[in-house]
Amino acid sequence: MTQAFQKVTAIRGMNDLLPGASARWEQFEALVRDWLRSYGYRNVRTPVLEHTRLFARGIGEVTDIVEKEMYTFTDALNGDSLTLRPEMTAGIVRASIEHNLLYDRPHRVYSIGPVFRHERPQRGRYRQFHQIDVEALGYAGPDVDAELIVMLARLWKLLGLTDVRLELNSLGQPAERAAHRAALIAHLERHQDVLDEDGKRRLYTNPLRVLDTKNPAMQEMADSAPRLFDFLGDESRAHFDGVCQRLADAGIEYRLNPRLVRGLDYYNSTVFEWVTDRLGSQGTVCGGGRYDGLIELLGGKPAPAVGFAIGVERLIDLWEQTVPSEPVPECEVYVVHQGDEAQRLAAQVAETLRDAGLAVVVHAGSGSFKSQFKRADASGARVAVILGGDEVANRTASVKFLREGDQEGSQQQVPLAQLAQVLNTKG
Ligand code: ATP
Ligand code: MG
Repeated sequence: MTQAFQKVTAIRGMNDLLPGASARWEQFEALVRDWLRSYGYRNVRTPVLEHTRLFARGIGEVTDIVEKEMYTFTDALNGDSLTLRPEMTAGIVRASIEHNLLYDRPHRVYSIGPVFRHERPQRGRYRQFHQIDVEALGYAGPDVDAELIVMLARLWKLLGLTDVRLELNSLGQPAERAAHRAALIAHLERHQDVLDEDGKRRLYTNPLRVLDTKNPAMQEMADSAPRLFDFLGDESRAHFDGVCQRLADAGIEYRLNPRLVRGLDYYNSTVFEWVTDRLGSQGTVCGGGRYDGLIELLGGKPAPAVGFAIGVERLIDLWEQTVPSEPVPECEVYVVHQGDEAQRLAAQVAETLRDAGLAVVVHAGSGSFKSQFKRADASGARVAVILGGDEVANRTASVKFLREGDQEGSQQQVPLAQLAQVLNTKG
């Protein structure tokens, strides 16, 4: 006797995507790939699993992601510490160094896929989620920062989104950050009493991140803290102004948010987020910025870079709210049949219709015409092709349009040889 099998469910915070919802995702991905292509971005695919050291070094030891959100385990075969990628930039940079991608010219690349973070699941916050990650590797100027932002504005337009706004900041260069850091630590020391556990722990290790807190009790302290923006030198200011001018050229509005620091250590100079009020507290749909030091930090020849990551679940949620989707049909043509010979003919006819570019489902098995028509209707097909005894004998098919406006209900007999043409031109 085999033991009763205890039902297995998905891991908490990791979602299944079933046919109804995945149609929307496919639509989205097709649009996104066209959009990326229109700016010259090319696809890269890196493994979901990397050595833990890559993220610890690349993202920073004292960040939410590395401290508490990574899925890390030991490879039982050789003892290596491995981590499911919590973001894509580190892996893409590793690959670009490993394959010497930047040796003769810069590259615009993108990747789309799952990332993993051990967070408390809630709307817009999952443990496996998806990112569209876009990286301009080897580009130094504000022109590319601005182009990335303009590019995102175009995506919102393509999707029909209006309620997304841009927040912008500059994190300056290492020397400027060091000067600001000293002033910030002094400020935090004066407000020790309001710091929570994370805040206290990060006071000396990552004080900038203390300001990124969502703890309401710390807001006043954070608001009154010295602003990194005020420590920027001429060069950093000029770069930032260069970005702002180009955004003005493109008619893109933004809010300067001196508190915007982003959750990963590798950023410098320009940082930005696109935020909406329509998704509750998980309102950031895209975050990005410059990371001029990362390639060198990970062992590559120094090269500047800038990029962003879009949270796909959040963006599709917003898209669905703004532009509700119509159900996507399973097929265009549903073939019903009666009798063994008709069933075999149906399979052959369907192949010729597919040759002509149509999406065709042949009713599987048998059943009354009534039950087959029910399925045809549920499939969303715009037309049913009917093969019965008469049709087999005459080498014809009956064609019935199923949708309103599509000459609904009308039925006609068509010689098989003309069927594809009739279906492609009518309705
Ligand atoms: P948050 O402040 O919301 O935690 P983050 O700064 O950790 O975001 P990034 O590392 O910048 O996020 O990731 C880029 C984008 O990925 C975010 O702007 C968001 O849209 C999305 N994202 C981040 N974490 C999650 C998650 N757990 N589930 C779903 N989407 C997420
Ligand atoms: Mg986070």
